[in-house]
Amino acid sequence: MNSRNKKNYDVIVIGAGAAGMTAAISAARQGAKVALLEHMEQAGKKILATGNGKCNFTNRVQGLECYRGQDPAFVLPVLEQFGLESTLDFFREIGIFPKEKRGGYFYPASGQASCVRQALVQELLFRKVDCYYGVGLRSIKKEKDRFWYDTKEGEYQSRICIIATGGKAAKKTGSDGSGFKYITEFGHHLTAIVPALVQMQGKQSFLKELAGIRADSVLSLYIDEKLICKEPGELQLTEFGLSGIPAFQVSRYALLALHAGQRVYASIDFAPEQSHKELEAYVTGWQKRRGGCLVGSCLPGLVNQKLIPVLLKEAGLKHNTALHSCGSKDVRRLVTCIKGLHVDIIGSKSFDQAQACAGGVDTSQLNPKTMESKLVRGLYFAGEVVDIDGACGGYNLQWAWSSGWVAGFHGGSK
Ligand SMILES: Cc1cc2nc3c(=O)[nH]c(=O)nc-3n(C[C@H](O)[C@H](O)[C@H](O)COP(=O)(O)OP(=O)(O)OC[C@H]3O[C@@H](n4cnc5c(N)ncnc54)[C@H](O)[C@@H]3O)c2cc1C
Repeated sequence: MNSRNKKNYDVIVIGAGAAGMTAAISAARQGAKVALLEHMEQAGKKILATGNGKCNFTNRVQGLECYRGQDPAFVLPVLEQFGLESTLDFFREIGIFPKEKRGGYFYPASGQASCVRQALVQELLFRKVDCYYGVGLRSIKKEKDRFWYDTKEGEYQSRICIIATGGKAAKKTGSDGSGFKYITEFGHHLTAIVPALVQMQGKQSFLKELAGIRADSVLSLYIDEKLICKEPGELQLTEFGLSGIPAFQVSRYALLALHAGQRVYASIDFAPEQSHKELEAYVTGWQKRRGGCLVGSCLPGLVNQKLIPVLLKEAGLKHNTALHSCGSKDVRRLVTCIKGLHVDIIGSKSFDQAQACAGGVDTSQLNPKTMESKLVRGLYFAGEVVDIDGACGGYNLQWAWSSGWVAGFHGGSK
């Protein structure tokens, strides 16, 4: 593009991710003249990485509990306008056949995330959205009812500006946090931004011994001694800490609490299907029948073998203790460890290894019916840049499509 270019649009969308592309399509469908400015050389890089390359783009199960933020209810008016059914219709219309798996998770029938990106890019072309890639945005200003964009390549202006620059997760896909600068310059408040859907760091040295274990368990997260949430599923224990879906699901709460200086720990139930009482009866049953055996001999059929030495140690029992020499308090302590191994959470992997980030544009400063700023007329936001994050299962993309659509629809029809 010529360096003296000055381009005029009704709507300019910053960021060609899931939210930005949807916003641009939605605005163009309202008849607006739309441009999309992206600082990477291509659109939708992050989409390619989603769902292990298969793109879990939404979920049949929709409820407030699937969305998080300082005010999760903010999502409701947005989802009412563009929820699950509208999303499925939209994707069918642009050539993506939704395939439902595992009781509610939707993927493209091709099983390829690249098709989702391609379908969106094709639709942008079809709707005549001008897409500019490799744009070096320097500033956005509002003067005389128009937004002015100074870029290394030239100037742009528009009546409506939609910021969809994502969060800070996986910055190699383009979301490097640079968009937050423009947002604060417009006077918007950002809530604390931390990695979400990420591996959590544990303090205990026994984690080294447990690395590699995958166990069906229930993970409970405590903040300042208060139970915050419980997540069932396959937990992965690593040298660093806790990974797998249950750890990912609770990580945003843990990291926001650590950010606020609170004490965080996890309690892992390795035998969620048995109650304390049942387990105590099971161990004492073994005591009666095989009292001469070592204390750990009753556990291999119950928990992963690698766990046994750690559970015994945490219960204060020596591995060479005979079962008959254990008192009822010893049995209780052992059962307590099986049903609630304590792990202090002290951090997480970085934003680069996170699937999303929690925090962003404070939703109290946005109109939930339109995604428009309450501070600056004509300024809209969409996607992960906003203080809404989803649980694992397609909810982050659903938020990107929904908020993108709503911002584009209202911005494009102004
Ligand atoms: C490995 C991985 C797997 C995931 N899997 C899933 C999944 O299966 N299901 C699910 O729902 N979610 C998943 N997510 C999360 C989901 O991908 C994101 O929440 C979603 O893509 C966010 O969309 P967005 O458009 O808001 O932001 P992004 O996709 O991050 O897009 C932001 C865009 O803005 C551009 N940009 C940023 N700053 C600027 C700037 N200053 N100037 C110009 N352009 C800029 C970026 O380059 C980028 O193209 C996954 C994430 C990762 C990292």
